[in-house]
Amino acid sequence: MSVVLGMPRRLPSGSGGIGDAPVAASGTRPPVALPTERPAASGLIDRFGREATDLRISLTDRCNLRCTYCMPAEGLPFLPPPALMSLDEITRLARIAVTEFGVRQIRFTGGEPLLRNDLVEIIRSVASLEPRPEISLTTNAIGLSSRAEALAEAGLDRINVSLDSIHPETFAKITRRPFLDRVLGGIDAVRAAGLRETKINAVLMPGVNDHQAVELLEWALAGGHQLRFIEQMPLDADHTWDRDSMITAAGIRERLSARYLLSPDDAPRDGAPAELFQVRERAEGPDSRMLGLVGIIASVSEPFCADCRRTRLTAEGAVRSCLFSHVETDLLGPIRAGADDVEVADLWRGAMWAKPSGHRMNETGFAQPDRPMSAIGG
Ligand code: SAM
Ligand code: SF4
Repeated sequence: MSVVLGMPRRLPSGSGGIGDAPVAASGTRPPVALPTERPAASGLIDRFGREATDLRISLTDRCNLRCTYCMPAEGLPFLPPPALMSLDEITRLARIAVTEFGVRQIRFTGGEPLLRNDLVEIIRSVASLEPRPEISLTTNAIGLSSRAEALAEAGLDRINVSLDSIHPETFAKITRRPFLDRVLGGIDAVRAAGLRETKINAVLMPGVNDHQAVELLEWALAGGHQLRFIEQMPLDADHTWDRDSMITAAGIRERLSARYLLSPDDAPRDGAPAELFQVRERAEGPDSRMLGLVGIIASVSEPFCADCRRTRLTAEGAVRSCLFSHVETDLLGPIRAGADDVEVADLWRGAMWAKPSGHRMNETGFAQPDRPMSAIGG
């Protein structure tokens, strides 16, 4: 696809995309007139008054697992290595985000970010930026056991590990790979490396692992990890997502409540995707000791778009203002064609100014993006 400086590109089959018209997360048209003029110099603001201060950077679209809700069994046609952002390009874009837009948090993701041989260097380089952003990683933890220490030493602050089941057979069924031991080894290595916190991300699927929700939480609490259940979203490569059979946030709370008492945590959510609940033993009553926190990310059934603070870069350096965008704005093409920082920042601001108010998932006519989660960067 040819790159036109300053022009967002519409992805091939993106009819009816959310980049076209602003619609509130509730599904209604906003009653007030939206500003049409974008301020020339600003953070990453949009027409709805939100400001993105949380950057997700995908480092690769490749992965060594094939989670059924994300990738097809046979994989995907992956990007050739020269199409990926290099260490220097990632650092430059991160610097622009930190210095021009006030971005304070950078999360590396993928595909599987541990597949980047230069991951330690990327983290070291981004950690040297001023002001230093908080740096986190979302990973499946395959190969983490041998790299956790180097990542921590390079400046990684936090890790989220995706783990949907602690049963080898269920894990293999979901990921299509028999690698549970490697993931558990990676989680242990994070602790040994002294990283501040490991969060565990889990997607529940009916008849596959939903009956293991309590057991997974029990395991996470015992290990001192914060477990976050993510509602399954229509971002699978096979396009088999089905609203009627997905496990909603209400369904997750119901399953956990069979064993635990959940009460909303008092701390301000502050734009975080997860709603946090304090967990106590049901058998011991509401005044019993808190065992820990559990998070629920209810992107489908209880959307939090109105408070979204995220901006995303795909592995080939395109801005996506929303996970569900059908529109991307290429930054890497212009960078490789010689654009200076002012031009790159302006393109990025323009992409975020056009951010839709919500993902429209709950409206008729919603069209799933072509890119699956692995190629966007979750
Ligand atoms: N490979 C890494 C991993 O699995 O943690 C990073 C990339 S993965 C795309 C990031 C997160 O997206 C994972 O926690 C995964 O569970 C989640 N994810 C992938 N597909 C999803 C879907 N269709 N709905 C909800 N979450 C999904
Ligand atoms: Fe790979 Fe992560 Fe997608 Fe699973 S969720 S296939 S680990 S990118």
